[in-house]
Amino acid sequence: MSTASTLDPSPSCPLCSRLVAFRHANAQTQPSWHNAPVPSFGALNASLLIVGLAPGLKGANATGRPFTGDYAGDLLYATLLKFGFAKGPYQAHAGDGLKLVGARITNAVRCVPPQNKPLGPEIRACAPFLTAEISAMKQLKVIVTLGGIAHGAVLKAVGLKLKEAPFGHGNEIVLPKGPSIIASYHCSRLNTNTRRLTPSMFEDIFARAREQLTRA
Ligand code: URA
Repeated sequence: MSTASTLDPSPSCPLCSRLVAFRHANAQTQPSWHNAPVPSFGALNASLLIVGLAPGLKGANATGRPFTGDYAGDLLYATLLKFGFAKGPYQAHAGDGLKLVGARITNAVRCVPPQNKPLGPEIRACAPFLTAEISAMKQLKVIVTLGGIAHGAVLKAVGLKLKEAPFGHGNEIVLPKGPSIIASYHCSRLNTNTRRLTPSMFEDIFARAREQLTRA
């Protein structure tokens, strides 16, 4: 497996054959969409990193910006705006003028997977990009992981095992010489519709991130 020398996979990244085939199929049917690895959003000198699962088919994969145009993005961006991690209008397209403030958003897997489900080898193939990203964020203080897969990917990137830092909504790990990690249920349509994750539970996560950054 190759290692990532850059933070973002190339637009024609060949690492995962199933995801390449899916990109090509989507490019045939929806040529106006982004249909490529979705780059991270926000400045590298941010102190907060939010890690999602993978681009949604008609959201990030279409617009080219993480969570943008996704159902999940409506809650995520509203919450970031509320806690001062974003400013400007969120209008569900990459040209809406929304800016992140001290925050950056990425995904554990950069290409859209069929049925929103990346496979183990795809998560592992994309892992070097997340590792490189975390290393490059010199001001990083807090990582919010959205869902168990993102949580596992972040733990791997910082050299922790899942049993040392199990996933659960609100679980927090403070690394002795590194960022703290706050786990959240993913802000997906399924989790919000079933009320496994309510807006107030999600806001609590970002309130904690804000509090930690204020103290740091
Ligand atoms: N959109 C993303 O970019 N990531 C997710 O995890 C879900 C939707």
